[in-house]
Amino acid sequence: RVLGNRATGIFSLSRSFCSPSSSSDLITATLFPGDGIGPEIAESVKQVFKTADVPIQWEEHFVGTEVDPRTQSFLTWESLESVRRNKIGLKGPMATPIGKGHRSLNLTLRKELNLYANVRPCYSLPGYKTRYDDVNLVTIRENTEGEYSGLEHQVVRGVVESIKIITRQASLRVAEYAFHYAKAHGRERVSAIHKANIMQKTDGLFLKCCREVAEKYPDIKYEEVVIDNCCMMLVKNPALFDVLVMPNLYGDIISDLCAGLIGGLGLTPSCNIGEGGVALAEAVHGSAPDIAGKNKANPTALLLSSVSMLRHLELHDKADRIQSAILNTIADGKYRTADLGGSSSTSDFTKAICDQL
Ligand code: NAD
Repeated sequence: RVLGNRATGIFSLSRSFCSPSSSSDLITATLFPGDGIGPEIAESVKQVFKTADVPIQWEEHFVGTEVDPRTQSFLTWESLESVRRNKIGLKGPMATPIGKGHRSLNLTLRKELNLYANVRPCYSLPGYKTRYDDVNLVTIRENTEGEYSGLEHQVVRGVVESIKIITRQASLRVAEYAFHYAKAHGRERVSAIHKANIMQKTDGLFLKCCREVAEKYPDIKYEEVVIDNCCMMLVKNPALFDVLVMPNLYGDIISDLCAGLIGGLGLTPSCNIGEGGVALAEAVHGSAPDIAGKNKANPTALLLSSVSMLRHLELHDKADRIQSAILNTIADGKYRTADLGGSSSTSDFTKAICDQL
C-alpha cells in the first residue's frame, strides 16, 4: 500500500457500479455547497477543478439551514433527483439545530438516497508532523440506521426513549462493502467495532452479519474490537488498524478521533456510497460556524473528498494530479491554514494548490 495515491482513495469497485450522466465530454455532478464554511470551501474545489481542466459541469443546488427563498424549502425533490440522476455529487457541511428544530438534512439525504456506507480514509500526510507518521486506515460507517433512526419520544414526563435499529439487511450490506473494499484496495484486515457485551441484541446482530460476510473472504483477516478498547488502541498505536466497520454512531465518533490523529478535521475526506452506484462525497467536518465567512477554513477535506469523487468516476489522472498538488502544498509548509498552524487564508491556500497544477 502506498500513501497518498489511489490506494487510499475511494472509487467504485467496478465500472458497472457507476454510470454517471454526461452530455458531450462533460460529466454532470451535483454540488450542494451547504452551510457555514461550505460555500467557501466549495468555491475552492470549483477553482481547483477549473485549473486542472476537470471535465465536470456542476449542477448546483441550495440545501441548508436557511430556507431557499425560491422554493420556501430546506431540501427539495429537485435536489434529491439531481443526485439520483447524476449518480455523483459533492456536498458541503450542513448545520443541524441542537435539541430542537428540523431533522438533520444530512440524515435526510442519507435516508432518501439510501447512502448506506460512509467511507472515511485517514492517513498521515507526508510532511505534516503529528504524534504519528504511520496512520493509514479507513473507517466504514453504517449510514442509515442504528442510533440515527430518529425514533425518539417521551415515555412519561422526565423519561425519554431513543430507539436503536439494527437490521440484518443493512448490516450485511455494509459488511459486504467493507470486505469488498478491503479486497479491492489490497488491505489485509477488517475490524468490526461494537459494544455487543452491553448491546447484546443490536450490536450482537451487527457482529453476526460481519462474521457471516467474513467467511466469504478467507484472505482478509477479521477481528472484533469493543469500541472503548478500540479508542484506547487507536490513540496508543493507530497502525494496529486497517479497515474498520461499525454501526452509525460509533462511526461518527471514531472517525473524528481518527481525524485528530493526523492533524484535525480540516484534513479528512469521506464518501457516501449508495445503491446503484450513487456516490456523494463530503468532508467529515461540520459547518464550523466559529470561522464561517472569515476566509479561514481549510478546504483540504472537501478537496480530498472531491478527489474521491474523481476516482469514483475513474478519472484517475485528474485525481492523482489534484491530490499531489494538495499534499505537496501542505508538505511544502509555505501556505497552510490556521488549523495547521499557518496563517494562509482559504483563498491563498487554494491559489497555492492551483499554482502546483
Ligand atoms: P465542526 O466540524 O463544524 O467544527 C469543529 C471544530 O473544527 C471547530 O473548531 C471548527 O472551526 C473546526 N473545523 C472544522 N472544519 C474545519 C476546516 N475545514 N478548517 C478549519 N477548521 C475546521 O463541528 P461542530 O462545531 O460540532 O458542528 C457545527 C455544525 O455542523 C453543527 O450544526 C453540526 O450538526 C454540523 N455538522 C455537519 C456535518 C455534515 O454536514 N456532514 C458533520 C458534522 C457536523
